[in-house]
Amino acid sequence: MVNKKINMERIGFQIDNSYTELPKELYSVIETKDVSNPSFVMFNESLAESLGLDFSMISDSEKAEIFCGNIRLPNSIPIAQAYGGHQFGRFTFLGDGRALLLGEHITPDGSRVDIQLKGSGPTPYSRGGDGLAALGPMLREFLISEAMAALNIPTTRSLAVVLTNQRVHRQVDLDGAVLTRIAKSHIRVGTFQYALAQGGVETLRALADYTIHRHFPNINDENRYLELLNEVIKAQAKLIAQWQLVGFIHGVMNTDNMAISGETIDYGPCAWLDTYEPKTVYSSIDYSGRYAFINQPAIAAWNLARFAETLLPLLEKDQFLAQKMAQDAVETFLPLFKDEWLSGMRKKLGLFSEEVEDEGLIDELLNIMHKQKLDYHLTFVNLTTNIDAYEKKFEFAEWLIKYRIRRSRQRESLDESIVLMKSVNPAIVPRNHLVEEALSHATEHDLSKFNHLLELLKTPFQYSSEQLQANQPASASSVPYKTFCGT
Ligand code: AMP
Ligand code: MG
Repeated sequence: MVNKKINMERIGFQIDNSYTELPKELYSVIETKDVSNPSFVMFNESLAESLGLDFSMISDSEKAEIFCGNIRLPNSIPIAQAYGGHQFGRFTFLGDGRALLLGEHITPDGSRVDIQLKGSGPTPYSRGGDGLAALGPMLREFLISEAMAALNIPTTRSLAVVLTNQRVHRQVDLDGAVLTRIAKSHIRVGTFQYALAQGGVETLRALADYTIHRHFPNINDENRYLELLNEVIKAQAKLIAQWQLVGFIHGVMNTDNMAISGETIDYGPCAWLDTYEPKTVYSSIDYSGRYAFINQPAIAAWNLARFAETLLPLLEKDQFLAQKMAQDAVETFLPLFKDEWLSGMRKKLGLFSEEVEDEGLIDELLNIMHKQKLDYHLTFVNLTTNIDAYEKKFEFAEWLIKYRIRRSRQRESLDESIVLMKSVNPAIVPRNHLVEEALSHATEHDLSKFNHLLELLKTPFQYSSEQLQANQPASASSVPYKTFCGT
């Protein structure tokens, strides 16, 4: 890395490297190589502002130098983090194979966020991979993570994309790119698994203490590690409920892709439900449907069981008792998820109060949607804006009678109900075909469609006519959508 003459101080980076105080086996310090000719693609001005960073004096070419890693952030100690993970059920040692943690930025309000480059070159954890990333997938992560943030779903964010002007070989040669990712942290369930497997109990304890201090500072219970487990379970129950409510399929819920902070992380083969088919799988390598839409809550519970079992040595000396504590904790996940999901579904239907029969009403709706192959998003948009159109469908008519009776039992007016629905049922989501179309132009260096879609996705609850018009399912003739990992 070189220190070029850019006034970095004026931008406002406050970099700390607290992760490097953890046991050495948890990371590797990286000597980076210069990218010879980087160029600017995307920058997230509003995110930068919210982090207290001022780039108004920085040109696009200087941004490219900063966000490919050519210019070191003040005080940054770049590292690659080690982690492991159950990939499709099998444990493997992994780590940042193509990412670099530049450090932790302390924002003006005192919060701490990781700044990470993705696609920045090989590391000791690359396992034969090239350590690089192609422009399309990095722009895809930019778009979808920003859409998730606008939907109020916890997620890592995207600050910048730059071209490396280096070719990346996949099936064909592609443009290389680096994404700058912002996260509460990059600590994963797999980081804990690695700490125990590679370092032992004291490394695990150091990581757990660090995580509590950083993410759950209010924990001060007698059994802080059990509390940590419970907090992570709660955060994941909230997160997965939001995925299910909005029709998001992560696609590769390996334990290395589950963040302890409760943020959505690692946008690989993720995609959006269109027709309501609960068994939908888009990932080209998910042959058994392990990560199908409907399986996401159960898979999250499975991953949390791996987290709980990793924490066993910290929970209690008596390992029999520890197992019981871990099991009891993990068993709270599905009920917690269900509560979150039900309360979210009530909002999607404009219901303020809770009635025991609500679950039946919701199930009935989902069954109709499934049987009639209805579009998940349009169904809720139509219930919000154009409920009468559904009268025509016989099964819907019956359901609608029950639904209207249910709504009439609440004190709140129909208008209030619609306001609630508009605040949770997005008028637009990053539908797969919209994303693909935008990317096909963006990878040919025409960003106009990409930027336009990004703008529409930034205000998903605005209900503009343009959003509603764009939010159409793919034409029936489209070939089944497939997504790919690690691209
Ligand atoms: P992912 O499927 O993106 O979650 O990646 C799984 C693991 O493979 C992580 O440890 C990544 O760092 C690593 N990986 C993915 N792509 C590459 C690449 N091109 N070069 C090196 N490592 C990679
Ligand atoms: Mg990953």
